[in-house]
Amino acid sequence: MIDFHCHLDLYRDAMNLLPMVASRNKFTLAVTTSPRAWAIARDKFAKYSNIKVALGLHPEIVQQKKNELDLLLRSIPTVNYIGEVGLDGSTQYRETFPLQEDIFSQILQECEANGGRIISIHSRCATQHVLRKIAKHVQNSIPVLHWFTGSEKEVLQAIDLGCWFSIGPAMLSSFSGRRTAGLVPLDRVLPETDGPFATKNSLPLMPWDVIEVYQFLGEKHRLNQDTIEEIIQNNLNRMERSILEKQTKF
Ligand code: MN
Repeated sequence: MIDFHCHLDLYRDAMNLLPMVASRNKFTLAVTTSPRAWAIARDKFAKYSNIKVALGLHPEIVQQKKNELDLLLRSIPTVNYIGEVGLDGSTQYRETFPLQEDIFSQILQECEANGGRIISIHSRCATQHVLRKIAKHVQNSIPVLHWFTGSEKEVLQAIDLGCWFSIGPAMLSSFSGRRTAGLVPLDRVLPETDGPFATKNSLPLMPWDVIEVYQFLGEKHRLNQDTIEEIIQNNLNRMERSILEKQTKF
């Protein structure tokens, strides 16, 4: 199984969790919330080859972490995965929205200046703004919209822009989330948990709880679990191949 967006460094007892994550999941993308946290997790997680650490700066904390933007921008050449980055338009972060936009644009531009990266993107209450930034700045990068809550029209718009989607159990717990998840084409989807932030029955989701996503996709598309697993694995392989090709041509 694959968890394409979880905050592995933020679980209580994270280091003891790693061996189990590495053995139960085929691949786990550990997104980070700040560039310094990325540097620490990258070193600590290095011996697990199927756990990748993404370089991030979470939109909710841009005010506190803006002095780490330089570290992020100059580390982009050394990584394949960026995240969590993006925009949050909810009321409590409205004041920092201009700063979020500035930082997100700079990150997207620097990814392009390096031939493109795979980018896990937050878009809560800011789907249109995020899509506009992608349309403006992204050519080679592969944007992966995490926990996307856009309308049907926005899903189609995102597909046209080359976006992928990561969907998780928390998203599947609401009617509108299941609806959006059902609109996403099977060849553009990856499972995620967003744990430990995302919870189920007030417990943090664990990276292997992506099993629910596989089950949902199987039912939705009337395919058996083996086929779904194969499709998801092929998606990840195809995505990694595609970014490598773009970077080689660059
Ligand atoms: Mn997240």
